[in-house]
Amino acid sequence: MTSESKPAHFLQNIIREDLAQGRVSQLATRFPPEPNGYLHIGHAKSICLNFGLAQEFGGTCNLRFDDTNPAKEEEEYVDAIKRDVSWLGFEWNGEARYTSDYFDQLHDWALYLIKEGKAYVCHLSPEEARHYRGTLTEPGRNSPYRDRSVEENLELFEKMKNGEMAEGECSLRAKINMAAPNINLRDPIIYRIKKMAHHQTGDKWCIYPSYDFAHGQSDAIEGISHSICTLEFEDHKPLYDWFIDNLPVPARPRQYEFARLNLNYTVVSKRKLKQLVDEGHVDGWDDPRMPTLSGQRRRGVPPTAIRNFCEMIGVTRSDSVVDVGMLEYCIRDELDKNAPRAMCVMEPLKVTLSNYPEGKEEILTAPGHPVREDLPARDLPFTRTLYIEQEDFREEANKKYKRLVLGKKVRLRNAYVIQADEVVKNDAGEIVEVICSVDLDTLGKDPADGVKPKGVIHWVSAEKNVDCEVRLYDRLFSDPAPDAGGKNFLDHVNPDNLKVLTGCKAEVGLAAAAAEQSYQFERNGYFCRDNKYGTAEKPVFNRTIGLRDSWAKEQGK
Ligand code: ATP
Ligand code: MG
Repeated sequence: MTSESKPAHFLQNIIREDLAQGRVSQLATRFPPEPNGYLHIGHAKSICLNFGLAQEFGGTCNLRFDDTNPAKEEEEYVDAIKRDVSWLGFEWNGEARYTSDYFDQLHDWALYLIKEGKAYVCHLSPEEARHYRGTLTEPGRNSPYRDRSVEENLELFEKMKNGEMAEGECSLRAKINMAAPNINLRDPIIYRIKKMAHHQTGDKWCIYPSYDFAHGQSDAIEGISHSICTLEFEDHKPLYDWFIDNLPVPARPRQYEFARLNLNYTVVSKRKLKQLVDEGHVDGWDDPRMPTLSGQRRRGVPPTAIRNFCEMIGVTRSDSVVDVGMLEYCIRDELDKNAPRAMCVMEPLKVTLSNYPEGKEEILTAPGHPVREDLPARDLPFTRTLYIEQEDFREEANKKYKRLVLGKKVRLRNAYVIQADEVVKNDAGEIVEVICSVDLDTLGKDPADGVKPKGVIHWVSAEKNVDCEVRLYDRLFSDPAPDAGGKNFLDHVNPDNLKVLTGCKAEVGLAAAAAEQSYQFERNGYFCRDNKYGTAEKPVFNRTIGLRDSWAKEQGK
């Protein structure tokens, strides 16, 4: 699916029209995260949309940290967000920006509103203020402090700024309309006292603008032409417009809303993801089970798969839940095209080739990829002892089992045909070794008797391989809607979301695997080397995704 073959979505139409009519001379968008958590797959939709539109229409896209709340924000998040946007393949316009860069200007504009008689310092406690605000069905009541003089307000606001008032003692509110049907217009708070250092401005301020007071004005300062946000901000638009109408701002951004991404089997809320991290349900924000971009990266998901997914789901104004199977489809599709092939035996069973000389070693070669000739061929040492999967051997089996059976033949992938002659068991009666014979006249051709073995299985040399750990991830949640309705998402964490296999044996080339480099482990799935755990001698591989959608099958879909 390419952008050329897809009909334009409503934002593309609006922008095309604005440019054609000359309402806007150059498109300017921005992605405005609050640095209070790591980016998740929902943010990817907004990133692809904002940066994608800028690319498509020859405009610019800023990265702006909406950092008005020093209580929840941290430098770690700023760094992680930059890394993730870059990883997705986008470049922001100039330096990253911060709403806190505009604190002086926003403070001046607060003074401007006071002088215009359009803002006042209110001494209602938060509880009282709630009382005065009214409800959806009842209008609010004017604060008793609403008619303070300009002089008094200027003096009190100065005191707030100088730290002479206590937190919660008072706030600066816009004087709009306590009877407005839209609650956002009922004299919203525009500045509050927070005696707290800020990750960008340090101790300079002890009053901070509200998100609503900062957001639209920051867009105006940056000359953003199209302020694209999610639908929940639709109700805030009249307030943003009020600020723009009543302040001497340098530009007038227009806001457009689109539906946020919801995915089944997933939660996309920073607050909830933070809870999973803080309570130890996962191993950090970049745990490969997390729907964060850093988690997906560590799991081996290619950034192009996420971009393709965002393209595929489209942009509309109606809320819906997207099937996570669509994301998985995009991941498989991308990995199938690009991931080099390799062999790794997860649960090894020893095979000894009785007719193959001890100490002999041949180097067989295998293609790096079935169609991608640019991916280098692999060297596979072939020796007298090998490993195959325990589940690829049975003493007896019916015809449906197309693997190795006692007395029968199977082809070793990229190598010879072998026949199982004998099993060796331990005292507990478990099979510990299979004695086989190898037909050395079968490399790239059928056996001389013309009987083609039905199955092909993967293998590695027992003498030359990479001992590794493999982590098999499954969905983080077992419920399709873990946080819907009144549900506690923590009750629906999938107990089998991680299986760790140790003593796995991978082909020698995987010793050189780079972190995050994806491979298809033949007959198994897509894997990448973990960027956090493992050593040079004993790497850890994460399963990105299985070869087929086994989940849908299990659910009887
Ligand atoms: P969360 O609900 O996870 O806390 P947020 O909206 O508070 O997310 P921000 O940092 O404010 O997080 O988000 C930055 C931008 O990403 C905003 O413009 C927001 O609308 C957008 N965004 C956040 N979540 C989604 C989503 N699920 N789908 C699409 N866009 C999203
Ligand atoms: Mg937000």
